[in-house]
Parts: sequence; C-alpha cells; structure tokens
Amino acid sequence: MLDNCALITLVHAVSWSGSLTLPVCSHALPGVSAAHLYFILWNCQLMLSYRHAFHAGNHADVLKHYVQIQLLQYLNQKDTAYSYIDTHSGAGVYALDGGYASKNAEYETGIAPLWDRTDLPASLAEYLKLIKEMNPSGKMRYYPGSPYCADQVSREQDRLRLFELHPADAKILADNFRKVEAHAQAQGERPSVRGKRVIITKADGFQSLKALLPPPSRRALVLIDPPYEDKMDYRKVKDTLADALVRFPSGIYAVWYPVLQRMESRQFADKLKQLPATEWLHVTLTVNTPSPDGFGLHSSGMFILNPPYTLEPMLREVMPYLVKVLGRDDGAKFVLETGKGGVRNTGTRRV
Ligand code: SAM
Repeated sequence: MLDNCALITLVHAVSWSGSLTLPVCSHALPGVSAAHLYFILWNCQLMLSYRHAFHAGNHADVLKHYVQIQLLQYLNQKDTAYSYIDTHSGAGVYALDGGYASKNAEYETGIAPLWDRTDLPASLAEYLKLIKEMNPSGKMRYYPGSPYCADQVSREQDRLRLFELHPADAKILADNFRKVEAHAQAQGERPSVRGKRVIITKADGFQSLKALLPPPSRRALVLIDPPYEDKMDYRKVKDTLADALVRFPSGIYAVWYPVLQRMESRQFADKLKQLPATEWLHVTLTVNTPSPDGFGLHSSGMFILNPPYTLEPMLREVMPYLVKVLGRDDGAKFVLETGKGGVRNTGTRRV
C-alpha cells in the first residue's frame, strides 16, 4: 500500500512533468498495476490538490518572494495605505524539516545555497534577512510563504486579503497568523488594529478578487500564484487579470508560473503581454537544462503588470547572481524583458 506522502509525491511528479510513464512507475511499485495507479493518481490529483509545502524554499520561491518583497517595498515608499491581495496564499509558513518539505528537500537547491553567502546584492540581502529573522537560532528551519512575507514588509495601515481554497492549508494559514498575532500583541501592538489588517478567507481567489477591486486607497499589489496542476489555471489567470484591469487599471499585478514544455506554459507570457496594462515586466530563472524525462521544475517566471520603475534595475543586478549561485549546469540562465501592454508580439525589449 502506498503511504500518503509517496502518493502525493507521485501526484506532483505527474502534474509538473505533465506526464509520467505509468508502466515505469508501477514497476517501481510492485503490486500496483499501471491502470490501478492511473486511477489512484487521477483521483488523488482531483482530491488532494497541490500542497506548497513540498516546494517551500525552492528556486521558484526564491524568485517569487524576492520580487514580491521588492514590489511591497516600492509601495512602502508612500505613506498612503495599500491592499495586498494574495489570491492563492498557501499555508503561510513552512517547516523545512517537516515531512512535506523534507521529502524532496527542494529548498536545498533554492534558499540553502544563499544562506551563508556574504556577497549578496543589497536587495537580495533584504530578502534573506527576512528569512533569517524567522530563524533566530541561525539554523534554516522555517521558510516564509507569500502571506508571511507580506505581513513582515507591509505596515500597520496596509490591508492583507488572503485567499486559500484547500481546507487544510486555509486552516494552517489561519493558525499561523494567530501565532504571528499573538507574538505581535506580546510586542505591544493593539489587537484591534491587526484584526482588521489581515483577513483570511477559505475561498476561490480568482473569483474573490473581483469584489476587492478597486481598493479604497487605489493602491494595491495582487499576487496570483495558482498551482497550475489544472491547465485551466493559465486561462483563469489571464481572464482574471483582464477583468481586474478593467476594475482597477493602475494596480500592480504579479503572476508566478512554472516554465514547462506544455503548450499552455510556453504561450502564457505572450498571452499576458497582450493584456491592456500600461507596461509589463517578465523575468524567468532557469537553474538547469530540462531533464530528458521531464521530471522536476527547472525554470519559473514572474510576470508583472504595471511594474514599478525600480524593479528592472534591481533584477538586472540580482538575476546574474541567482544564475551563478543557484545554477546547476550550463543550461542555467535568466531572461528579463519589458514592454508596453496590449500589443501583439511587438514592443518587447530584452534587457
Ligand atoms: N503563494 C504561496 C506562497 O508563495 O507561499 C503559494 C501558493 S501555492 C503555489 C498555490 C495554492 O493555491 C495552494 O495552496 C492551493 O491549495 C491553492 N489554491 C488552488 N486553487 C485555488 C483557488 N482557486 N483559490 C484559492 N486558492 C487555491
């Protein structure tokens, strides 16, 4: 009988590689026929859904959370409050020595190589500082999710609206924030202020975004970070952004996505470039040549609509460094491009 962890690992292997040779798989799992395995996996994929804990702290998280923090810090430059809306929040905090994260230990090729570096570019050092502060013992035990990064970087006047659909992760997220809140109160913060500041909802983030736009202060960062296990997520991201840009054209929208062989992924950035935002920025980080069997995540991207002018120069400095430190073979590289929104295959500037 397969244990839960093995099963979930297989589900993830299927979803990120796009396919899995089931005969090979059932060979590795004697007593389970290919047809039976396919049936189990198909059902589990629908049932269990994605758990970010498997991937916490990997190279894709490094890129995503580094960019997220830069965007929030840009918004911090003005006193006016802003909303941070996380449509796909995950659990908020991950234990790297816990069952899920330690299973594949993806953080070993993500945050780990950065941990003891003393030559980090300044903006990357700020990202690392946030993570080190949640690990006061100095040992790398916890990794923050996007809601925790937002909580740490935003100010008292800002509003965090966090959505998570998976019942288990929504509960862990709420529990984690209760702990953060208890800690903040112990430090002397007024509970009523924090109560209004962070609202966690177990709901579909794509659908829920509509009601929050435009935000009262007309300033917001929206992070859209779905699992993409269901290829419909690519379409949903684009449709959600098209709707959001009508409701709130000047918002900053940041989308994470996995760079995969599947057509939806390959065409994704080009489709987002056609959205009617004033400007866009697209950055990808590839850490190794794709493996012949298609296993593993070798590359991911962030696509930002209405990026602040500060982001591109920071990425120009940080991306070569990330390639140098996280790159695993000659296939490691980054791509950084910017352009004006709403145009088909023109106006792109590689930087
Ligand atoms: N943003 C998180 C971070 O950086 O720490 C990670 C999010 S993870 C990639 C995607 C999350 O979206 C999963 O926890 C999954 O349960 C959740 N999810 C899937 N579909 C959703 C939906 N329609 N609405 C809200 N959450 C969803």
